[in-house]
Amino acid sequence: MDAFRSTVRAMMGYTPGEQPRDKAFVKLNTNENPYPPSPRVAQALMRAIGADLRLYPDPVGTDLRQVAGRLYGLAPEQILVGNGSDDLLAMLMRACVGRGDRVAYPVPTYSLYDTLVEMHDGEPVRLPFSPDFHLPPGLAQIGAKLTIVCNPNSPSGTLTPIGDLARLSAKVSGLLVVDEAYVDFADDNALPLLARADNVVILRTLSKSYSLAGMRIGLALGARTIIDELMKVKDSYNISRLSLVAGVAALEDQDWMRENRSRIRSTRERLIASLRELGYGVPHSEANFVLARRAGANQEPVYLGLKEHGVLVRYFRSDGLEDALRITVGTDAEVDALLAALRDVVAAS
Ligand SMILES: *Cc1c(COP(=O)(O)O)cnc(C)c1O
Repeated sequence: MDAFRSTVRAMMGYTPGEQPRDKAFVKLNTNENPYPPSPRVAQALMRAIGADLRLYPDPVGTDLRQVAGRLYGLAPEQILVGNGSDDLLAMLMRACVGRGDRVAYPVPTYSLYDTLVEMHDGEPVRLPFSPDFHLPPGLAQIGAKLTIVCNPNSPSGTLTPIGDLARLSAKVSGLLVVDEAYVDFADDNALPLLARADNVVILRTLSKSYSLAGMRIGLALGARTIIDELMKVKDSYNISRLSLVAGVAALEDQDWMRENRSRIRSTRERLIASLRELGYGVPHSEANFVLARRAGANQEPVYLGLKEHGVLVRYFRSDGLEDALRITVGTDAEVDALLAALRDVVAAS
């Protein structure tokens, strides 16, 4: 007898970006922040290690909800803490998606959505973005339990105007999930929608703008009625004590985050200009990465060439992205190393 569900047997599983252990790469493939987290995080962690690791953590992360609530102008009851925002996406699927239920999203986007829908025997409805990354018409007419918009979108880096999301929220049948993993690098965000729509969930993470990918801290923001339902399906102690204190310390040091954000944004503009000079098409990015495209020219050899030069970027073999590379905005020195390697590789091809 096969103990596994046929769905699981048939799944490929999500493939995360490479996390090499053998060699020191200039690592521009998984959109991590090149700068360290606030020093207050390490101080808070040291205190927590010396204290009560023997005890279970606060199951709902009360302190973190309060700090986040003050920051975003929400009640703590409108906030759910996740073990990364991936955990929150999993809870949304668990709570809303059963066999045959539709989940709609514009593509190309974060491919974990596919994996999660598949896991729950749901039906992914993948509607292509327009060539300039506007929302596809028809997204609201799918009858989906969840409509997900990653904003800024990965891998394009583009931002859907918040007005478009407001109109979408008024038309979708179920919840509109706005995955704002990269929003701190953008000029706008969907928070104001929460005051106007009771079917919107915003996902935030401390992995990117707060440099805490290693700690796994995500936040879902939305109406209490939504958060209450999600609470029922979460793992009971889904975030560790250490993550909770790290999250509080990081959110309390807004100056640190803002300074790194502004460095990354200026490096991003320089990276985009240099890639365009090299002949790449690069959509305007509001994230901490850019999509560099050479229409019709497969970029796998370039990806491999860069890897040989010790520079790791992301290459996607699907979704019509074979002519593109997604490049994380690193430090200025890392971006210089990338550009030097890219000039070599392009010249040799
Ligand atoms: C990085 C990322 C996440 C996941 O963030 P974690 O909090 O580290 O789980 C979610 N959505 C998108 C689009 C991302 O790029």
